[in-house]
Amino acid sequence: MNLIFLGAPGAGKGTQAESASNKYKIPAISTGNMLREAAKNGTEAGLKAKSFMDSGDLVPDEVVVGIIKERIALDDAKNGFILDGFPRTVKQAQALEDMGVNIDKVINIHVADERITARMSGRRVCTDCGASYHIEYKPTSSEGVCDLCKGKVALRDDDKPETVLSRLKTYHEKTAPLIDFYDKRGKLRTVEGQEQIEETTRLTFEAIDA
Ligand code: ADP
Ligand code: ZN
Repeated sequence: MNLIFLGAPGAGKGTQAESASNKYKIPAISTGNMLREAAKNGTEAGLKAKSFMDSGDLVPDEVVVGIIKERIALDDAKNGFILDGFPRTVKQAQALEDMGVNIDKVINIHVADERITARMSGRRVCTDCGASYHIEYKPTSSEGVCDLCKGKVALRDDDKPETVLSRLKTYHEKTAPLIDFYDKRGKLRTVEGQEQIEETTRLTFEAIDA
């Protein structure tokens, strides 16, 4: 089963992708996490990507398409995968089709912009494994420490309020057109993002199973 999780930054795709990955036993592949990892390792490509991310822009299509192509070719993805944060432009979606990858469903997690900006300031991420948390909705058991790997949990560089606004703008311009793209192909399932994470998870699984 090959799935795509679509949604604005902070809509909760990453969290839901992690839950679905556990339930359906397929890897959740997050381009955001992979790019942050590359940036942390200080590779030339990683540092270049970071400059785009920190200003709220998208990393160039060729770069992410290359990353995804290599990643989905790995062994653990042969029975299926969840793409979290890819595709983010129509060009990327087209590249995915050109690779001959069949997508079963696109789960579009919808959250209104006003709620997004309010949520993002509380978001935290593990700097080691990329697991996502929220100080209010999904706190770590021990403050600042990842439940999964004991890594350091921190505010992401691009979750500062100024950057969030430009990321939302980027989302509406470049990514929202994918809703129509996948709707036309009969793949789109929209899930209304709830205040409770578990409630969104329930609706997400329902949409996947339907
Ligand atoms: P969010 O969903 O909260 O925006 P992500 O971790 O998915 O966070 O992405 C963080 C940043 O990484 C994006 O703002 C963008 O700069 C870059 N990025 C991630 N995925 C892609 C992609 N598919 N195409 C281009 N840039 C990407
Ligand atoms: Zn961790």
